[in-house]
Amino acid sequence: MTAYPHMLAPLDLGFTTLKNRVLMGSMHTGLEETKDWNRVAEFYAERARGEVGLMVTGGIGPNLEGSVLPGAAMMTTDEDVANHAIVTERVHANGGKIAMQILHAGRYAYGPMCVAPSPVKSPISPFPPAELDEDGIEKQISDIVATAGRAKAAGYDGVEIMGSEGYFLNQFLVTHTNKRTDRWGGSYENRMRLPVEVVRRTREEVGTDFIIIYRLSMIDLVPNGSTYEEVVQLAQEIEKAGATIINTGIGWHEARIPTIATSVPRAAFAWVTKKLMGKVSIPVITSNRINTPEVAEEVLSTGCADMVSLARPMLADAHFVRKAMEEKAAHIAPCIACNQACLDHTFGGKISSCLVNPRACYETELVVAPAGTKKSIAIVGAGPAGLSTALTAAERGHSVTVFDRADEIGGQLNMAKQVPGKEEFWGLVDWYRAMVAEMGVTVKLNTEATVETLKGYDEVIIATGVLPRDPGIPGQDGDNVHSYIDVLRHKTETGKRVAVIGAGGIGFDVSEYLVHEGDSPTENLPAWMAEWGVADTEEHRGGLSPQGPQPEAPARNVTLLQRKAEKHGKRLGKTTGWIHRAALKMKDVEFVGGVNYERIDADGLHVSFGEARENPTLIEADDIIMCAGQVPDRSLADALEAEGIACHVIGGADVAAELDAKRAIDQGTRLAATL
Ligand code: NAP
Ligand code: SF4
Repeated sequence: MTAYPHMLAPLDLGFTTLKNRVLMGSMHTGLEETKDWNRVAEFYAERARGEVGLMVTGGIGPNLEGSVLPGAAMMTTDEDVANHAIVTERVHANGGKIAMQILHAGRYAYGPMCVAPSPVKSPISPFPPAELDEDGIEKQISDIVATAGRAKAAGYDGVEIMGSEGYFLNQFLVTHTNKRTDRWGGSYENRMRLPVEVVRRTREEVGTDFIIIYRLSMIDLVPNGSTYEEVVQLAQEIEKAGATIINTGIGWHEARIPTIATSVPRAAFAWVTKKLMGKVSIPVITSNRINTPEVAEEVLSTGCADMVSLARPMLADAHFVRKAMEEKAAHIAPCIACNQACLDHTFGGKISSCLVNPRACYETELVVAPAGTKKSIAIVGAGPAGLSTALTAAERGHSVTVFDRADEIGGQLNMAKQVPGKEEFWGLVDWYRAMVAEMGVTVKLNTEATVETLKGYDEVIIATGVLPRDPGIPGQDGDNVHSYIDVLRHKTETGKRVAVIGAGGIGFDVSEYLVHEGDSPTENLPAWMAEWGVADTEEHRGGLSPQGPQPEAPARNVTLLQRKAEKHGKRLGKTTGWIHRAALKMKDVEFVGGVNYERIDADGLHVSFGEARENPTLIEADDIIMCAGQVPDRSLADALEAEGIACHVIGGADVAAELDAKRAIDQGTRLAATL
């Protein structure tokens, strides 16, 4: 008997059966744009081998004006059909099923050719869209329909028509973006005409035995979004028009409420999808922050949906479903919802990967093959760099010993997990613990590795991490000055007024830690919804609370300082920096930039501004926390080199500047693949 009977149950669609209730949701990985179709095929084939029930590709454009970017993948020619056929054949050969997402971006298309129901510019794009006339609308419909026909010719099992997240079809639905007065605007019947027509004509084009998933926005999270009644009406019309499955989308891209970041509670929006259950007779899919089989099973067993969509967790571990089937859930590499290597890459014009799994989207390049010569490998440091090296080296057949002076593995991850909103890091450390045991890695904790200890190993890896940078501020030796390690690891108590020196990732984290008290809203859905102003869609249009965000009062008055005059958090993640900034602003954290740190005394922190050190100011504070970055801890590496013992230095011990777990894990995995 499985622990996940609902998640692993087949789903009979009449003409075909999905082997379980897990959909790999669409992700823009950038792979299709590489035109390396073998690489694209391997990415999906690896997930097919992992036993996922159905996959959806990244968004494929139906025409130039609807593509997300100039140069983005489209399905408009016979050559496109032939290329995609490489993918579908490989997926089918590995026992999988795959649907192609048709994505018309409308006013979100990043280019001057973009089109929309009305000429209303999106706040997240510099390009004002052209208003479509009747012929223009007909062209968009026929291009989408033709794209579906080509997807079928390429061997796909179905298509997903993207109608949520504020894209083209969604833009017709709400008066926020549809100001038309013709038959495509005005009444709700008119506004939903386009999505319904697209589905009806797509069904005509592809015939009966072909999956059509319609991605429908359940909660827009923008002003003047759809009401609950409108959402249900649309879903019923979409079913009548011939859709096979409804996949529910959460929030427009321009919404100022986080929907997938790590601080969003797990399965935070499953309750929204549940409202559609029983209103249509086709299967309904829910998504967002479902990252373990336990959460998936809970969502399905409580009737929130017929199927779950997991996107980023399929980057973190292609074998999510297979491991759940084999009762090895503890071995599933968890998606921590950081966006650092997936969405931040996409929006930075880079190919997606995964912080936890650098092989994601690099399946053909980063190959972990059995080692020709089995070696004994010593790794010093059980942080992300050392542990990722250890796991990959052990997978290749090497004999691996990890040393750490701490009494637990995880290194800096153990500090991150203390921060409200970063609870996912607990799961990451647990996964490393399970995997080092599974892979037979010897872990020596409470052990200071020395030059003597390391003699005799075939390879020595130094992953000793970082030391806090000394900012050299007069008065920093006072009792009122602490490091981020004192606060996050040793739980040093602070007073009510705190100044934080350094506004990098850790300065933001420490500030977040200091302004919270009691339960983290990430573990308390009603509190999180109140904090961000999310309301019941049955009561408020678009799911926006009329009161707006209602955060708990801050536990402390925090001032976050940096020397740079730039916007605070500018260097944080592209897709998450705004959330960290907004979260601290909600807690009245004061951002002060362009400072010189003059001295610290019992009254607080004395600063001045600009090169001329003008405007001397006292930041009154009971405690001052140093988050001024880090320097590499190379002491052991230097001692080894002095003795003539070769070693590999990785992670923060190699380069500390803006070190993050993504770089550490990637470096460790790639090194181990070559040893
Ligand atoms: P960081 O991002 O390099 O930021 C260091 C901060 O210190 C900057 O704001 C910098 O701003 C300031 N600073 C630098 N030199 C200074 C000096 N001599 N005196 C005073 N201030 C100085 O480092 P971090 O915040 O320590 O984060 C390290 C990395 O870990 C980041 O990539 C971050 O994303 C990641 N991260 C890790 C964790 C974790 O728990 N391990 C948590 C969050 C983030 P100014 O130069 O403008 O003053
Ligand atoms: Fe998840 Fe982060 Fe990996 Fe993206 S990079 S898939 S958010 S763990």
